[in-house]
Amino acid sequence: MILVLKEGITHEEKDRIRSTLRGEGYLVREMSDAGRSLLGAIGEATQDLDFFERLAGVERVIPISSAFKLASRKMHPQNTLVHVGDAVIGGERIVVIAGPCAVESREQALATGREVKKYGAVLFRGGAFKPRTSPYTFQGLGEEGLIILAEIREELGLGVVTEITSPAQADMMMKYVDMVQVGARNMQNFELLKCVGRMGKPVFLKRGLSATIEEWLMSAEYILSEGNDHVVLCERGIRTFEPYTRNTLDLSAIPVIKNLTHLPVVIDPSHATGMREKVSPMARAAIAAGADGLMIEVHHEPDKALSDGPQSLYPIQFGQLMRDIYVIAPVVGKQLDFGYLEKAKAVKHMNATRGDGDRRAAFLGELGTFSHKACTQYFGTDVRAEPMSSFAQIFEAVKRGDVDFGVVPLENSLTGSIHENYDHLLEYDLRIIGEITLRIMHHLIGHPEGKIETIQRVLSHPQVFQQCRQFLEQHPEWELVSAKDTATAVRRIKEGGALSDAAIASKVAAEVHGMAVFQEGIETNPRNYTRFVVISTRPFENGPRRKSSLIYSTGNRPGALFETLKIFAEKGINLVKLESRPIHGKPWEYMFYVDLEADIESPSFRPVIDELEKRTDYLRVLGSY
Ligand code: PEP
Ligand code: MN
Repeated sequence: MILVLKEGITHEEKDRIRSTLRGEGYLVREMSDAGRSLLGAIGEATQDLDFFERLAGVERVIPISSAFKLASRKMHPQNTLVHVGDAVIGGERIVVIAGPCAVESREQALATGREVKKYGAVLFRGGAFKPRTSPYTFQGLGEEGLIILAEIREELGLGVVTEITSPAQADMMMKYVDMVQVGARNMQNFELLKCVGRMGKPVFLKRGLSATIEEWLMSAEYILSEGNDHVVLCERGIRTFEPYTRNTLDLSAIPVIKNLTHLPVVIDPSHATGMREKVSPMARAAIAAGADGLMIEVHHEPDKALSDGPQSLYPIQFGQLMRDIYVIAPVVGKQLDFGYLEKAKAVKHMNATRGDGDRRAAFLGELGTFSHKACTQYFGTDVRAEPMSSFAQIFEAVKRGDVDFGVVPLENSLTGSIHENYDHLLEYDLRIIGEITLRIMHHLIGHPEGKIETIQRVLSHPQVFQQCRQFLEQHPEWELVSAKDTATAVRRIKEGGALSDAAIASKVAAEVHGMAVFQEGIETNPRNYTRFVVISTRPFENGPRRKSSLIYSTGNRPGALFETLKIFAEKGINLVKLESRPIHGKPWEYMFYVDLEADIESPSFRPVIDELEKRTDYLRVLGSY
């Protein structure tokens, strides 16, 4: 059961409740939800609920009716984040685990590891103890395979995941790997579950071939009840009557799991389908359905694989799939980050060299704004998001070194460029070191006790009203009140307390302030994306450099702009953006803002820069990222 505690509860009252619960034989967990303190109590019911409801400091008691308790979302309303190597599973960045079915040799594992890393995998998989249907097929390299996995981690910097098939392997696993997998065939091997619970390493728990979701969550409960919270669930297909695929991928498990539990869910389309050409369509669908990640079998030479070759992707197919996921993820509010590992490494390096271990990124507005989301999606949990009240303040803070990074919007797909930030880019001597694009979905948000019919005033940022015009035109009686940003709008209606007030903002803003979403997705055009850039005083050392941004001005003579563009055309450099901005104090003269698909600062493009310098009056490379 969950005990919701009164708002002004004293420490003494809380301690007394805790010891009463322990006295009754309950395991007690402390939690919070939207700022409220909760106590979770797990164990056999000894008293009626009223007994607990009468304890001083308790507001109400919510029973947990499901068989699984620690795994229940009621016990832990926020998503659990599982840290493995440099990756975090369960956050807003998709984690892709890839590698061969089995580690066959050092060369095979390294060759495949290099390929999957190149295309954006952040964890490496490979079996050393293989649970094969036939005792006459390849059983895995055993400890030698684990040693190879540890070498992969050293050499490539990828965390490694492998299957444990017996508690006798626990010591070896502790020594060599970052996450242990409990395979489908062992999902109800309770001794093994208890063992991995006690190991304390992250556990990748596959769903059994014929397990119900409840049975699967009860297996997770075994691990959690040993005190190990680092559990990732993996749907890998269940046995049905359908013979055209190896198993049947239960994609509907994703929303079911998301509702029932706080644990992350990853999809394995390789074992689910058993056929290479079916893997990518199912992987794409899984991301669209809300999976936190994917486990994909990839082999550098699938035709020679000692196990599961027919379902293993060729590296190039894996690369294509990753590009698809990169496009799909923002539609469902997530990201596939090709710079994931470099970024984590760079931040770690900064922590090590500067000592304080506290990296910060400034964004505009309050918690729950889209800028905040851009910040947390770009950096994950490695960097603290620091709210600021103006764009100029963000640029100043980065320049002074008060923060390490700034995250600022540059353009929206519907309303165009945010010119103020272009002007700041010109004014401040800072670098663009990354970019992130978010889908902007607006929701009508109000008080949990309010309703849409009684709304009189709606608060939001003026640009948001513009983006929701069609919806707002259906309610001409509503007074539109401008707010600094979307999250501020939600905070103000909460503080004001009037049930006739509503706000337009993101779902996160509603969650942060414990408010209700009355209507989802009220923006006129659902293809509403904002591109943010990350600014800093220096670039990431080994970050991805797919794109570059430049600013330049040319003389006011015929063909001046054309001459610069010709340089890019002749070198086959793709231009993805070209925009002009008036130069302050020089009427009718313009600066050009250019984005290119090339690492313009690499030595091979030096001649391009030299040529550009000759044909421009002013030239600055804002960054390659
Ligand atoms: C595997 O991941 O290689 C494996 C054997 O998976 P499953 O347990 O899902 O069959
Ligand atoms: Mn396999």
